[in-house]
Amino acid sequence: MKKVVKFGGSSLASAEQFEKVGNIIRADKERCYVVPSAPGKRFAKDTKVTDMLYACYALAEEGKDFSKELAEIQARYQEIISGLKLELSLDDEFKTIEKNFKEKLGDNYAASRGEYLNGIIMAAYLNYTFIDAAEVIFFKDNGEFDAEKTNEVLSGRLADCANAVVPGFYGAYADGRVKTFSRGGSDITGSIVAKAVKADVYENWTDVSGFLIADPRIIPKPEVIEVITYKELRELAYMGATVLHEDAIFPVRQQGIPINIRNTNAPEDEGTWIVGSTCQKSRYVITGIAGKKGFCAVNIEKDMMNSEIGFGRKVLQAFEENGISFEHVPSGIDTMTVFVHQDEFMSKEQKVVAGIHRLADPDSIDIESDLALIAVVGRGMKSTRGTAGRVFAALAHANINVKMIDQGSSELNIIIGVTNEDFEAAIKAIYDIFVVTQL
Ligand code: ASP
Repeated sequence: MKKVVKFGGSSLASAEQFEKVGNIIRADKERCYVVPSAPGKRFAKDTKVTDMLYACYALAEEGKDFSKELAEIQARYQEIISGLKLELSLDDEFKTIEKNFKEKLGDNYAASRGEYLNGIIMAAYLNYTFIDAAEVIFFKDNGEFDAEKTNEVLSGRLADCANAVVPGFYGAYADGRVKTFSRGGSDITGSIVAKAVKADVYENWTDVSGFLIADPRIIPKPEVIEVITYKELRELAYMGATVLHEDAIFPVRQQGIPINIRNTNAPEDEGTWIVGSTCQKSRYVITGIAGKKGFCAVNIEKDMMNSEIGFGRKVLQAFEENGISFEHVPSGIDTMTVFVHQDEFMSKEQKVVAGIHRLADPDSIDIESDLALIAVVGRGMKSTRGTAGRVFAALAHANINVKMIDQGSSELNIIIGVTNEDFEAAIKAIYDIFVVTQL
């Protein structure tokens, strides 16, 4: 068995956290490939090293003195090195970084140093081989990740290494210039490494014991999801549930490698398993609930709309012409509603309305703002009768007016539109009926 283990920033923020990570890796010799993030926050008001690097480089770019800021970053690493009692000096590395900052090598290079340096420390601490991600993870000239070249080079390189550390978050263009993924991108690196070595498991270690059924800011101490499919996760992540970078699913999904989300501070917890498919039923009919506020509904009415071929296309064209993507389009006989993100839509509102008038000639257009969308997701819904009934009964009991309903034909989710004001109460009502009372 081969396991790829990725550790997030909070798991590597201090020497104490590094020791926990060391114990986890040493407890299982199958944990042979390690992907570290940069040191994260040690306490709530602390700053992540990645953010320190961005800020420091911004000074360099303006031609200002950045020596104090760079020294503070070096101190963060030195604290870890000293705490672990390692014989390691990063002085030369910091000299190179200083020189490259002065030469304005770019903010991608700057940010990537967070994981690069943490990788060097991790490799020294574990006595594993260090592999610079810039040598094995590649981007195309247009900035897209080059999956093919990466897989070829990375799998070749790791075939010769029984144990290795590959820093997360960055890679390089063919000409060697460093490029990072988007924020939180070490999750993607972990997945890429897991694919390259055909790992049995991709363990993603963080500071929570897995995916929660609902947002803990709304539901106090929600239960952890034991098993979730990639598809369910996509639905929940899209609707705002965070833990794992959404692009981290694709490399392992192709190979059917499961992801296990684990907690560095509670390694005995099983965490959440993210899998391709499973015959394991989730404990409750629903797997999770997630949602987002800040949508607008554009209601378009036209008599005999239903018999007018091409009406929907013309309406959507008005959104397309203004570069606005839509979320949902529920429709009736003479009405059609388009849900869009309020912040994207606001500044272009009148242009879109004019466009709809011009292209589709409707009888009326009416806009409703401050709406929220909630996704109730669960593979169990397909085989259970009455799920939608339970959702709407719960909402009715909580005095919540449902503005929109959309059930995907895969029967994996039900999307509900409510007002922003009702958002939290709606999530509570749904969580209560499926998880707490199970009525
Ligand atoms: N260090 C990077 C960030 O803060 C990437 C990561 O942690 O995954 O976004």
